[in-house]
Amino acid sequence: MPPPIPFNRPPITGRELSFLKEAIERRELSGDGHFTKQCEAWIGERLKSGRALLTHSCTGALEMAAILADLAPGDEVIMPSFTFVSTANAVVLRGAVPVFVDIRPDTLNLDERLVEAAMTPRTKAIFVVHYGGVCAEMDVFSDIAARHRLLLVEDAAQALLATYRGRLAGTLGDVACFSFHASKNIVSGEGGALVTDRDDLAERAAVIREKGTDRARFLLGLVDKYTWTDLGSSYVPSELVAAFLYAQLEDADAITAERRAIWQHYHEAFADIEARDIGVRRPIVPAHCGHNGHLYYLLLPDRDRRDAMISSLRAQGITAPFHYVPLHSSDAGRRFSRAVGMLAHTDDVSDRLIRLPMWAGMRDEIERVVAVIHDLIR
Ligand SMILES: *Cc1c(COP(=O)(O)O)cnc(C)c1O
Repeated sequence: MPPPIPFNRPPITGRELSFLKEAIERRELSGDGHFTKQCEAWIGERLKSGRALLTHSCTGALEMAAILADLAPGDEVIMPSFTFVSTANAVVLRGAVPVFVDIRPDTLNLDERLVEAAMTPRTKAIFVVHYGGVCAEMDVFSDIAARHRLLLVEDAAQALLATYRGRLAGTLGDVACFSFHASKNIVSGEGGALVTDRDDLAERAAVIREKGTDRARFLLGLVDKYTWTDLGSSYVPSELVAAFLYAQLEDADAITAERRAIWQHYHEAFADIEARDIGVRRPIVPAHCGHNGHLYYLLLPDRDRRDAMISSLRAQGITAPFHYVPLHSSDAGRRFSRAVGMLAHTDDVSDRLIRLPMWAGMRDEIERVVAVIHDLIR
């Protein structure tokens, strides 16, 4: 049998070790040294956004966003149920309630048309997820957020360098949270960033990130000692993580282009299956969205056939997992959150979706995945 094909294989650009060595030689091991500043400058310049703050994870950045939203116990945050647990946990940790709204059947993103009906006087924020690096309908969300004075947070964990009407993900709301986890496009093992172009939020985020102290201002020489001034925790990543990340960011465009090419290869290869009208569909990317090749999935006719496909692929050494167990039907989701309506698309997609292997560096593996799937669907 040919070698196994993993679902994900983090890219290595070749400069990681030398940057790590440089960080070690600088004796900068804790956070906010040379490489953290380089990474934050890179993200800030690419996004042309006020401020980027490196964090130890997107989970951490989402927790910071939930603190910035000033959530009190019982407050509500609208979000999709079709997302990773961290989107919801950040809110629950503040004693607030995730309010799950269904996704659009085309992009699998939070359905902007259902959001206003789900609002109550306790609604404080909307946490939008750009699933698979395809942006949600941000113009509509911005308008809703402005009219109801809600904080608009982008969970852009999967969306670095994705675009919406020509603007980059991470610049479309009040606060954005990115992930550099090993499963994402650009990686540092564990890692993340919070981005905002609002000065008030940037200033407060710097305090939250430094254990609730004004240490960031102290390091800039703006105060002569630092003290506890706000809520906070330890969200600063080590310089070793930042050194690794900077080597990746320098190649972010090339890595993204390669992933987009693999995505396109899959997309063309499965066009005939979709055309046969047997209930298999490919991802839908609206014309005004530029995806970043984060994820290629297929929707199969039903759960049985999806599960059978996962097992058959596994038997041939190909790992192709599904996504997600909807949060509203999980144990913690039932305890801590509220669902609006039936979430029919969320349940349906979660039953039928299969994710295909996708990593920069795939070569012959692409054609093998395509061939095996054609064989299985025949
Ligand atoms: C990966 C992911 C996260 C969590 O990112 P970490 O950096 O692992 O904390 C949050 N939200 C979404 C949508 C993700 O895909």
